[in-house]
Amino acid sequence: MKDSYTLTQVLIPVDSGYAYRDVQIAEGTIAAIGENLPQTGQVVDGRNTLLLPGFVNAHTHSSEMWQRGLIPPLPLELWLADLFDFGEIDPEHIYLSALGTAIETLLSGGTTVVDHLVPIPGREMESIEAAVRAYRKVGIRAFIGPLLQDEPIGASVPKGNFDNSDTAHASHHLAAPEALEIAEAAINAYHCPADGIEIMVAPTGAQLCSDPFLEGCVELSDRHQVCRHTHLLESKAQKILAQEKYGESMVAHLHQLGFLGDRTSFAHCIWLEDDDIALMAQTGSTVVHNPLSNLRLGSGIAPLLKYRQAGVNVTFGCDGAASNDSQDLLEAIKIGTLLHNTTDFEYHHWITPRESVQMASLGGAKGLGQGDRRGSLQVGQEADLVMYDLTSLSMLPRTDPVGLLVMGRPAHAVHSAWVRGRRVIKNGSVTTVDVETLKSELFARSNWQVQGHSPTRKRLEPQYRVAMGLD
Ligand SMILES: [Zn+2]
Repeated sequence: MKDSYTLTQVLIPVDSGYAYRDVQIAEGTIAAIGENLPQTGQVVDGRNTLLLPGFVNAHTHSSEMWQRGLIPPLPLELWLADLFDFGEIDPEHIYLSALGTAIETLLSGGTTVVDHLVPIPGREMESIEAAVRAYRKVGIRAFIGPLLQDEPIGASVPKGNFDNSDTAHASHHLAAPEALEIAEAAINAYHCPADGIEIMVAPTGAQLCSDPFLEGCVELSDRHQVCRHTHLLESKAQKILAQEKYGESMVAHLHQLGFLGDRTSFAHCIWLEDDDIALMAQTGSTVVHNPLSNLRLGSGIAPLLKYRQAGVNVTFGCDGAASNDSQDLLEAIKIGTLLHNTTDFEYHHWITPRESVQMASLGGAKGLGQGDRRGSLQVGQEADLVMYDLTSLSMLPRTDPVGLLVMGRPAHAVHSAWVRGRRVIKNGSVTTVDVETLKSELFARSNWQVQGHSPTRKRLEPQYRVAMGLD
């Protein structure tokens, strides 16, 4: 028997504004919403709080936490070289950074994390096991997509006149059959929707993957009915590369391979043309907007207003903490909402705070093929809920709570959070994990250091500069 709760007198958004309601949670779902409900289970005083469906941190890479703040300002292809040149980590590091990612997500309104997990080369299953263990421990809902590729890092930079055979980090790519074996083993071992842990099939991106591997990913995800997740056209270099590699757009090519669909979410999606956007809408594919990472790497501004007008489902992600460099989902939502006002003078197209909240919750659930189960405050939905303290300094004075949540700087505003009906945040603190111990571990396993010089970056830089017309 799962815990049950009655939240009394919470403020919820309704069409006409806000209303005070009681909300009952039982058996992991929203059992009732109404006025003066019988107080069953544990009673939580919800006066002066706002209740919303939990958000989805729809794209991140948890282990990048070990490099946050460390990589200099660089474009994606060169930043990636620095990322890969970082010293070795072990599965315990993965466990700890997944804990940290989950906690920062929960404390900024997220109840689901999509971890495009970078496995340790040669220790892939141990890496996945460590992340699963962390997410189970915290109690956040997690979608884990082991990031796999079958081409070397140099393949992601347009070739131009260069010999494109950089073999650095050969260990980071595998032969396609081997990579597919790992993905399937992860599904067999850890995919367990009833426990809130799902495995996704998650190739790095077409820029680092062969067609046979991508086709294998489609086959695997269809056979096991799991989600697909990948990076898509994050940089201009990838757009140039697609023409070089396929003679057509990356979206058109992925569509031919059967990769698009309503269980497929794509991170970034910056360099799409109108035809690509139409394909995304037609196939029910989801765009995950990672505005801070896109700014940090100079990747560009995703055409979010165009996506929305074309009917493409859009949601938000923090992206990994080496390109953000935090996991504050409310911050990503704020920037990801306001940024687009500069791209279109027609202010009727701009995103309202209520629309942002819906994109972050229902949009996130839809991107995982589960919009019928989560993302709305409705009886029968799974109880992934967040309660915000409207008496915290950042939420005062009393104005429009959702407006302030999205456009303000709501520090320490999360009062409580439930995932699958289990209370994982109470009075602003995590109930499942000792955060002080986590802090000591993060401290003990790291050292102050300055931004370094990556040998792989040095090798790739001339090729990149020519490809981008900089030299
Ligand atoms: Zn990413």
